[in-house]
Amino acid sequence: MKQVLVLATTNKGKKREITELLKGFPVEIRTLDDFGPIPEVIEDGETFDENAYKKASFTARILGYPVMADDSGLCVEALDNAPGVYSARYAGEEATDAQNVEKLLDALKNEENRKAHFQCVISIAVPTGAALTYEGRCEGILTREAQGENGFGYDPLFFFPEFNKTFAQLSLEEKGKVSHRGKALQEMAREMDKILDWIDINMPQFERVPCKGK
Ligand code: IMP
Repeated sequence: MKQVLVLATTNKGKKREITELLKGFPVEIRTLDDFGPIPEVIEDGETFDENAYKKASFTARILGYPVMADDSGLCVEALDNAPGVYSARYAGEEATDAQNVEKLLDALKNEENRKAHFQCVISIAVPTGAALTYEGRCEGILTREAQGENGFGYDPLFFFPEFNKTFAQLSLEEKGKVSHRGKALQEMAREMDKILDWIDINMPQFERVPCKGK
């Protein structure tokens, strides 16, 4: 029987990427779209670990299933690792990717040190709160103007020297091999057998109510 694993996201792209990576394992991937509305998690942690764990454990408790959540962002050396956990809302709560990119270019306009890294933390939690954590990191150099049409977020500024391209100039497949999220997912996929055993042991046993009739 397949183990249900809920992704704490409604992002279809993430579901596709993760389902592809975990095919061959006895896992049935679901997303929040497969359930009714649930309370929103406030992502107010100071670290990626904290936010990923918060999302995963909260959602697992609400739904009664094992849940996988990720949190990621861009850390810029010259800005003391900002925007970090604030990457999505760097230019304001409702900021678009273009506004965040513009703000970052402006913050670095007189800066020679262009080193940055993307970081991703994946947390897999069961309803008791117990959890496993996987991490991925990817180093790059920030360009002085946006280049490329693919991807999202800060991809057009994130130059990856090994490929001599920005992340926004890579295909999804190329990016997945080297990106922070890709690396964390690959590590998770390598350990999937152990993860499934761990879920089996740590999932609370629900008592079945006997019922009459056939
Ligand atoms: P989340 O973890 O999906 O909430 O992403 C947080 C934010 O970090 C995104 O809104 C982007 O601004 C940034 N980010 C995370 N991963 C990437 C990536 O692979 N490329 C570009 N930006 C990213």
